[in-house]
Amino acid sequence: MSDNPIKVIYRATWVGSIANVILAVLKITVGKITGSQALVADGVHSFSDLITDTAILIGSRYWTAPADKEHPYGHGRFETLTNIFIGVLLALVGIGLGWDAVSALGHEESTPPSMLAFWAAMASIIVKEVLYRWTIVQAKLIKSRSLHANAWHHRSDALSSLPVAVAVIANIFIPDLNYLDQVAALIVTAMILKAAFEILWPAINELTDAEADSELNDKILHYAEQDPDIREVHAIRNRRTGSSILLDFHMLVDPTLNVEAAHTISENFKSHLLKELDEVVDVIIHIEPYTCAERVVNPCCENKDCQ
Ligand SMILES: [Zn+2]
Ligand SMILES: [Zn+2]
Ligand SMILES: [Zn+2]
Repeated sequence: MSDNPIKVIYRATWVGSIANVILAVLKITVGKITGSQALVADGVHSFSDLITDTAILIGSRYWTAPADKEHPYGHGRFETLTNIFIGVLLALVGIGLGWDAVSALGHEESTPPSMLAFWAAMASIIVKEVLYRWTIVQAKLIKSRSLHANAWHHRSDALSSLPVAVAVIANIFIPDLNYLDQVAALIVTAMILKAAFEILWPAINELTDAEADSELNDKILHYAEQDPDIREVHAIRNRRTGSSILLDFHMLVDPTLNVEAAHTISENFKSHLLKELDEVVDVIIHIEPYTCAERVVNPCCENKDCQ
């Protein structure tokens, strides 16, 4: 199979949305037949997941496009916007489930739903957990943050079917313990909100130009040490755009070198970094002469014997 990012995104998202439609129809139908309101609500939630899938299918067309005149830094932030959309939607779903659970406390169903509702919920849990595991592999294959976010959404969907299954079993075996359903729903709400936060927080960091990876600086300094032509590297900055990282820094070389020689050193170092550093897609290097005025890491000393 191809590793072309857009193809992987389309494949993973189409498989997920087809599963969502089948699960939604199954849960709503069985929920109506057995009289399980929780299962019907879970089925409606599966339909709402189609909105997320559609956002990825539409958004991925934009964020995989190469840089152009209107977006000279590339279209990576379109993926960030999609992640924010997925995160907010997931948070709303979590809040909705929590609200339902709290308002249902004290008004539990008197007629317990049949085992059919349990099997429908179990089918949903298994399908969604398998989808989570498969989608996370696809996301890692192309290092896509949106697919990663959607994979976690699948797992939170598996978790949200769990209280439905628990409630049916609890109702059948211990009819007095039917408030367990609401307690389980609140635990699920907390898990969904945590997943939403873990999707939203990196996206907010990215939009505010936070440093993408603090370990990157040490790696660059380490590679620079291995190149005898590079005297010093400083002012390293990195920031994320979608699933890729943009990098820039100052590189100090022998002041007597001509422009062509200095440029060759920087080009070689740039291609070395692009090869070694996974998510880095662009490097801007500002060349400076290794003179007292420019040195930062190894400043010139007042008395000359320390040079
Ligand atoms: Zn969902
Ligand atoms: Zn400098
Ligand atoms: Zn150049």
